[in-house]
Amino acid sequence: MSELTTMTAADLSAALRSKDVSATEVTQAHLDRIAEVDGRVHAFLHVAAEEALAAAEQVDSRRAAGAELGPLAGVPVALKDVFTTIDMPTTAGSRILNQWRPPYDATITTRLRRAGAIILGKTNMDEFAMGSSTENSAFGPTRNPWDLSRVPGGSSGGSAASVAAYEAPLAIGTDTGGSIRQPAAVCGITGMKPTYGGNSRYGLIAFASSLDTPGPLARTVLDAALLQEAISGHDPMDATSIDEAAPPVVAAARQADVAGLRIGVVTELSGEGYQPGVLSRFSQAVELLESLGAKVTEVSCPHFRYALPAYYLIAPSECSSNLARFDAMRYGLRVGDDGTRSAEEVMSLTREAGFGAEVKRRIMLGTYALSSGYYEAYYGKAQQVRTLIARDFEAAFGQVDVLVSPTTPTTAFPLGERTDDPMAMYLADLCTIPSNLAGNAAISVPCGLAPEDGLPVGLQVMTPVLADDRAYRVAAAAEAAFTERWGHPLLASAKGLDGASGLDADDTKGAGR
Ligand code: GLN
Repeated sequence: MSELTTMTAADLSAALRSKDVSATEVTQAHLDRIAEVDGRVHAFLHVAAEEALAAAEQVDSRRAAGAELGPLAGVPVALKDVFTTIDMPTTAGSRILNQWRPPYDATITTRLRRAGAIILGKTNMDEFAMGSSTENSAFGPTRNPWDLSRVPGGSSGGSAASVAAYEAPLAIGTDTGGSIRQPAAVCGITGMKPTYGGNSRYGLIAFASSLDTPGPLARTVLDAALLQEAISGHDPMDATSIDEAAPPVVAAARQADVAGLRIGVVTELSGEGYQPGVLSRFSQAVELLESLGAKVTEVSCPHFRYALPAYYLIAPSECSSNLARFDAMRYGLRVGDDGTRSAEEVMSLTREAGFGAEVKRRIMLGTYALSSGYYEAYYGKAQQVRTLIARDFEAAFGQVDVLVSPTTPTTAFPLGERTDDPMAMYLADLCTIPSNLAGNAAISVPCGLAPEDGLPVGLQVMTPVLADDRAYRVAAAAEAAFTERWGHPLLASAKGLDGASGLDADDTKGAGR
């Protein structure tokens, strides 16, 4: 593995600007790494080698012509396959969009290109971002680089795995109920769900529009901030985009301190059903923050226990409406159009063949929740619960500056373990969903490995709406303290690096560690 693939985006950026390396070299090193390991990890659905090298050459010639390079110029990024890209397929992990070529770039895609970032390709995901393990992809699962027999989380599992396996220093994911933070936690990296409306949804294939939030994944908090700063900010093409200056997250990540900060531990987000090693690492993490000068108290958010059921009415309701556009006429797959069938029959055959089981379950749940006679009892009630959860956050942030919890109740689970049990799968997002319903910012940062299985644990830091910078400041301080205490197994600069997590350590064992 080339040293260039173990460097952080911040270090790569510095090396590119001081002309120690070229963007072409950096890009080639990551493409080589993908060729070496992605047959086993399957983080990518599409690798855009030619386009990436062409983009890298442009950065190199701009640099040669004396242009000042921006912070992401020449730095590779992996893009979740739910953002449209004019020069690459976009599938959202679904058969129904297999071979579809979008006619335009998503705003996130455009901003990455403008920043000079090198898009390496499109990453695997649960179909239409519905899932917590990437096993709902129509194109086969992604595997966790720490242990190839386990899931990388989801739905941005391909993005998280690509970063953990050193195939990319940075990746973009989307978080509707936890799909950035949960895979980041179980892959041992940092993932951030920005404030809803902070990052544009234009060109993001919609799952649940009132919840969907694009955001960064990276091996360090500073890297995540660099990526977020490059993509965030108002977009007139997205009606829910916040028309205000984006929070200064890079400066906050560099600031990295918690002295005097009031931290609230959410009572409802721990206890029964949580893995013991996750809870022990979490309490050690909180103690470490306290030793840095933070004031820790316990805070109750009594309605958080209703977040999961409310989410599983609201998200499927929005999905049933959003996915109506896949009608066999406008995009992608068309089945049975042989001249003898009505449009309705073709639509029904196409949706039957094109959507996977989980997507169909969501469409049925959502259609039911929105149907006349049930609307008030289900969708209406869930919206009321959503308001109560937002009020819990408001009350809590009247007492403390940030809230913390484990990011996920367990570490990465084995492939196949939850595929037949949707409830067990949904529980992976127990801690992350409240922030989606309320729209506030939340970040996951690695806090060591669970003693019982040696797999990564994530600490979640939640902040008020538009206080994304505070999340980065706390996460960066936490990262520094945790790295000193437990090492950072994915950072060459920390002592723990054993080569692409479990992936290169001992290949003779087959499935990872
Ligand atoms: N796992 C949750 C779901 O299946 C969240 C997914 C997401 O955030 N995109 O809906």
